[in-house]
Amino acid sequence: MTRTQQRSRLDAVREHVRSHGRRWTVAKGAIVEALISTDCHLSVQQVHDRVTTRFPQIDRSTVHRVLLTLAEEHVVHVLGKQGEARYGMADQPHHHAVCARCGQEAEIPSTAVAPALTAAAAATGFSFDTGSITLTGLCETCRAAS
Ligand SMILES: [Zn+2]
Ligand SMILES: [Zn+2]
Repeated sequence: MTRTQQRSRLDAVREHVRSHGRRWTVAKGAIVEALISTDCHLSVQQVHDRVTTRFPQIDRSTVHRVLLTLAEEHVVHVLGKQGEARYGMADQPHHHAVCARCGQEAEIPSTAVAPALTAAAAATGFSFDTGSITLTGLCETCRAAS
């Protein structure tokens, strides 16, 4: 994703939040920016690490609180696998790949899975929930180590 794309994604999220009558704060902007700049889902600590490079005044408990608010506003969603909660952007539909060994997560764009879902629906006569699919496996690092 280019800088311009990241910027317009951030603008769209800010509009979404404001159009629901919610506050847009410096901390919110910094946290959303940190999440947009990665394709992964980050723990509170990881978000905090990224945010403080530019905003050292934002503490860890603020990051946690703002992430929960953003989840309420449907800007981020929470993955609770493997102990610690991880937060990812929810503004673009995606599925998840999770490493069974180390718990690392990656986003799978919906478009990558859509043809398979269509074929699966045709084969079974089912209509599937459009929510997110989690595929488990081994990440690159764990595959290399085994
Ligand atoms: Zn996600
Ligand atoms: Zn792994």
